[in-house]
Amino acid sequence: MKKKICTVVALLVIAISVTAATIWVTCNTCNGLGYTFVNTCTKCPTCKGSGTVPNDDGTRSSCTRCGGSGVVTKQDRKTCSTCLGTGGREVSSNSCY
Ligand SMILES: [Zn+2]
Ligand SMILES: [Zn+2]
Repeated sequence: MKKKICTVVALLVIAISVTAATIWVTCNTCNGLGYTFVNTCTKCPTCKGSGTVPNDDGTRSSCTRCGGSGVVTKQDRKTCSTCLGTGGREVSSNSCY
């Protein structure tokens, strides 16, 4: 009995998805990823922005991670502002009529 209800629900879901004729349009801005990459400058976590790291003997040497600049470029994922992170949009195929 319980199994039969499940089957009916499943068929109903299929029927709805078929009648709602929509086509998925991939977002051009992020190529369907839902996010874009942005370069942000951030303080080097290795040398904490000083550009130098302490050696065991008390001297300091140039930070290898940031090359002594104290700043590293980080690539951040930013939610695509065009599709708001969905990677595209559903367009009703009836919209052209
Ligand atoms: Zn550094
Ligand atoms: Zn997008």
